[in-house]
Amino acid sequence: MIMKGKKGVILGIANNKSIAYGIAKQCQEQGAEIAITFLNERFEKKLAPIAEDLGCSGKLYPCDVSNPDEIKALKESLEKDMGEIDFIVHSIAFAPKEGLTGRFTDITKDAFEVAMNISVYSLIEITQVLKPIMSKNSSVLTLSYYGGDKYIPNYNLMGVAKAALEMTVKYMAEDLGKDGIRVNAISAGPIKTLAAAGIGEFRFMLKWNEAHSPMKKNVTTTEVGNSGMYLLSDLSSAVTGEVHYVDGGYNIMGMPAVSFDEEGKQSIAWNGEK
Ligand code: NAP
Repeated sequence: MIMKGKKGVILGIANNKSIAYGIAKQCQEQGAEIAITFLNERFEKKLAPIAEDLGCSGKLYPCDVSNPDEIKALKESLEKDMGEIDFIVHSIAFAPKEGLTGRFTDITKDAFEVAMNISVYSLIEITQVLKPIMSKNSSVLTLSYYGGDKYIPNYNLMGVAKAALEMTVKYMAEDLGKDGIRVNAISAGPIKTLAAAGIGEFRFMLKWNEAHSPMKKNVTTTEVGNSGMYLLSDLSSAVTGEVHYVDGGYNIMGMPAVSFDEEGKQSIAWNGEK
């Protein structure tokens, strides 16, 4: 039981397809005591059976990260019900639709601010507010995507947010290392979730990644969950400030690999076909 004795909070479970659910499940199976959050009343009902499944029915709290009072209230609830915590999972992102389609240079200031506040600043604010109840051997984990490092069609505003998030992880890691708090990100390959449904041509992204990653497959929430659990556990006690790719190796590819057709001629699968 790798996570036995560890307690933590996981933000960003929308349903059992969420990446945060995959992380929560692996943590629970390895003995962690977890709390989870929901965005608003509509999601409270949906999350009740998931909380039961994760063994944390009594620890399901509201937290819209755009509302500082809800973050403060979350800290009070966690302190009352769990005392100290050892980990935080931040698996949250949002950009207005206009930021995920059309021409990049048409993005408005309003959309930019919303995306940066919810997808980036919230990681700082949550850690800031929860720090007084974090143990001296804690781990913070957030979720990124390759579109924060290289251009990805339609990812637009979220690409800029993920770039900022990845640097935020590094600055936070330096700042909090002396307090015994590690901060890391997982850059996950594309997975069909609610958030992913907002990204144009997402099905093509899945096909493309499967065809062109070294492992010739897409990743699952269980695989991301296992890597997440490692980064939250003492197995990664000397790892901080990292952006750890869990993407079947897709990020190492500089060009699609050459494949051969039936006549032995070299061909490149430009259309996402293997
Ligand atoms: P998801 O299941 O839709 O999870 C996204 C979560 O963010 C939802 O629980 C959503 O809540 C929450 N959220 C949005 N705005 C919020 C706010 N103001 N306050 C609190 N929570 C808020 O999708 P996911 O794919 O698992 O996304 C989780 C993270 O993984 C995101 O950071 C995403 O960018 C990242 N990621 C995803 C992929 C992928 O291909 N799916 C790949 C790499 C990285 P509601 O659903 O209740 O609105």
